[in-house]
Amino acid sequence: MPKESFKKLVKKSVCNFAFEMLKQECKLQSKTKELTYNEFKTQNYLSSMKPKMAKFISQARSQTIDIKTHSKFKYSDTDCRLCGIDEESLEHIVKCLDKSHILDIHESLNNCKNILELETIAHQVDKFIDLVSN
Ligand SMILES: [Zn+2]
Repeated sequence: MPKESFKKLVKKSVCNFAFEMLKQECKLQSKTKELTYNEFKTQNYLSSMKPKMAKFISQARSQTIDIKTHSKFKYSDTDCRLCGIDEESLEHIVKCLDKSHILDIHESLNNCKNILELETIAHQVDKFIDLVSN
């Protein structure tokens, strides 16, 4: 096996393992309703991100970001608070501010193949939340 594919394979296995951990964590969380992110920090692919950004990624995965389609109980509609045109979903808010982002969000979040994509998602979420909460 070429060295590069071996490296990819190892990275993917680590990623999958981390994601399994995260899924278990989420299950646990929904039962206890306790939000603790200590576990996340120890995970390989999130440890290189700032805690605030890593938190957005874990929230994106568990669909608990403070946006309309995630926090439906808080809002009476799902219209985007910035453009008012599209539904305020995770997919949308990543694109709302900067149309150049053509990421497959679910793909990025599920297989964590690319830390840069995760960071892009986290930053866009951060910007969006910042703008709508002011
Ligand atoms: Zn919008």
